[in-house]
Amino acid sequence: MASDVERLARAAAFAAEKHTGQLRKGEAGEPYVNHVIEVAEMLARACGGRDIELVIGGLLHDTIEDTGATHAEVAAIFGPGVADLVAEVTDDKSLPKAERKRLQALHAPHKSPRAKQLKLADKTSNLRALASSPPAEWPLSRQLEYVAWARSVAAGLRGANAWLEEQFDQAATAAEQAIAGRR
Ligand code: ZN
Repeated sequence: MASDVERLARAAAFAAEKHTGQLRKGEAGEPYVNHVIEVAEMLARACGGRDIELVIGGLLHDTIEDTGATHAEVAAIFGPGVADLVAEVTDDKSLPKAERKRLQALHAPHKSPRAKQLKLADKTSNLRALASSPPAEWPLSRQLEYVAWARSVAAGLRGANAWLEEQFDQAATAAEQAIAGRR
């Protein structure tokens, strides 16, 4: 059995490899892997470094949804606990985007405590990106809609980690202020 440090390093390498060539949506065009590292770092702080599967899940959370990775592949390398966590935060891409967004808000309250924390960190990272580097083709109305939707999802994620809730609230307010400043 690999040590926690080995598994964590392997997850960072796996995420970097799987997200090769992918960029974030913002005009800054950051590598996509920056996002999953930011999420993992937030989760590491949120759990005081005590929940390795949560942090590894943070690194891998978009690999099934956005790269060719499968549940079986993640389970074989990182174990079923990590694979199930990643699956829990993975949207069903066979559904239209609007329906996936509606289901995220609907399902949020029923997620496991780990998945709630991961989703909060994910939304926080996306709001920070919207504040600092919005997608060039998004009009202000779409930017505001995104913040409102993220708030509606986060409302269902409360109770799992107070520190992450604070990070989310700050990021949502900062995003709204940044968008207001673009008018
Ligand atoms: Zn993500």
